[in-house]
Amino acid sequence: MIKRWFSSTSRILKPFKIAIVGSGPGGFYTAHHLTNKSPKDLQLNIDFFEKLPTPFGLSRYGVAPDHPEVKNCEEYLIDLMEDKKAHIRFIGNCEIGKDLTLKQLEQNYNSIILAYGCTSNDNKLNIPGSNLKNIISARKFVNWYNGHPEYYEKGKKFIPPPLDKIKTVTIIGNGNVALDVARVLLGSEEHWKGTDISVEAEELLEKSTVEHVRIVARRGIMESAFTNKEIRELFELDNVKFIPLEKGILESVDKSKLGRVDKRRISIIERYNNSTKEGKKSWTLEYLKSPVEFIGDEMVSATTFVVNKPLNDPLKPGKVVSTDQYITEENELVIESIGYQGTPINGFEEIGIWFDNNKLHNKDGRLLSLNSKDKDDHNAIFKKGWYTSGWIKNGPKGVIATTMMDSFDTADKVLEDIANDRFIKVDQEKDIIPKNSITWDNWKTLDNYELNKGKELGKTRYKVCDKQEMLKLVNK
Ligand code: FAD
Ligand code: NAP
Repeated sequence: MIKRWFSSTSRILKPFKIAIVGSGPGGFYTAHHLTNKSPKDLQLNIDFFEKLPTPFGLSRYGVAPDHPEVKNCEEYLIDLMEDKKAHIRFIGNCEIGKDLTLKQLEQNYNSIILAYGCTSNDNKLNIPGSNLKNIISARKFVNWYNGHPEYYEKGKKFIPPPLDKIKTVTIIGNGNVALDVARVLLGSEEHWKGTDISVEAEELLEKSTVEHVRIVARRGIMESAFTNKEIRELFELDNVKFIPLEKGILESVDKSKLGRVDKRRISIIERYNNSTKEGKKSWTLEYLKSPVEFIGDEMVSATTFVVNKPLNDPLKPGKVVSTDQYITEENELVIESIGYQGTPINGFEEIGIWFDNNKLHNKDGRLLSLNSKDKDDHNAIFKKGWYTSGWIKNGPKGVIATTMMDSFDTADKVLEDIANDRFIKVDQEKDIIPKNSITWDNWKTLDNYELNKGKELGKTRYKVCDKQEMLKLVNK
């Protein structure tokens, strides 16, 4: 049974105030579970703080435009916001650490959940030649084709790679982000027409001269980071030819030892490896190659790789070692798709929050104080009232379904703590919401505008990419 709580000064029964930083899947699944699982006599007032004027995080700015069904997860937030009985506010265009401080949250909320994602930076290769032109991160490319406002800011606009002047692209890494990027480069004009891809990206892709995409991984076929559905989708792209794997790659697999998912993966690859499908564009899956140098004058013109071989040590499964063999392959664009990175929020030190190794120091979603170095230590000191969900809880890995289950766990911890009187006691009644923030009604205005203009243009949605234009459209 959840205890009711009274402010020490007013003795008036209070609703619990919860702040959620970030309105992506990590944030909205936590809120959904909180409202669903909380006892009837407990009133939760939830405020979502979102730095962008738009909600949904990577569902809007990461998920590929040809995967509209994945974006159905947004219904979870929409249902919450439109439930008249729920006390939930969306506070967009409000960056925590800049427009409001963490201290202000602590002074005004009983529980604070940091779900701000892990998308502010990239893992980097840092090999010779990394500064050449036409070497970009997948994160930047994805943000650009998905219309992320930080990539369309006047004066700081991201300049896309010259897809209308290049023929061969190397993608480093073979996770699902790499496959999204490959689909964008290989898919036809018709494939992207009608999606919510940014108009600028659609126009440049129409003029694209890209002929060949190489997806290169440092480890072997069994260590491929992509999932089966996503690789099949790439094989099935219209008018695109898969160039068979190098000899020895498939032959090295001992199928008798594979589990169900791996067996399926190998059978998909085998099937398409033997296909005679022709196409205007082509692609390859390459294994056991680590990039060691980018070559070129001003622009990248080739990449040198060291060839790796499996270590074959049962104690270190999947590990590879370099050989003394090198190969150089021509390319006019390199897209590094080797993982995202998060960053701390301004003010962590003052509050005593510990950001380390791409995630917040936490135990099952409860933040640990700076002093508790070992999260498995039973005496670990929790930062009362502070929690984390989504990618910033565990690092930049996991599909939306994993993020959802994990966010439910965090929500359970919040409710358990409220029931046990472990929350921040707040006396302050100040409303700290900045004047120029975006409300849910503002977002609905923008949403309707995008959907209507999309209809005119034959797209599922026309994304407004410029933040100033967004603010103008909602009279801010
Ligand atoms: P995010 O979705 O990144 O949300 C974090 C939110 O916090 C953002 O809205 C951000 O603007 C906001 N924020 C950041 N800093 C602040 C701050 N200081 N103050 C306020 N707000 C802040 N999974 C699938 O299942 N299917 C897919 O097809 C799929 N495609 C993907 C494609 C890409 C390119 C990527 C990178 C991931 C993809 N995923 C996919 C994984 C999925 O997107 C993640 O599991 C999920 O979005 C993580 O949710 P999150 O809320 O932790 O982070
Ligand atoms: P990822 O799945 O972790 O893949 C990263 C890739 O980069 C791996 O191939 C990795 O190889 C490689 N890599 C890392 N460091 C490297 C280095 N120094 N040199 C060479 N290669 C290196 O990450 P992601 O593709 O960014 O995806 C993030 C998450 O989002 C994943 O969980 C993914 O499933 C999810 N997502 C899902 C979808 C979808 O469901 N459609 C779409 C996009 C993203 P090693 O394995 O050798 O480290």
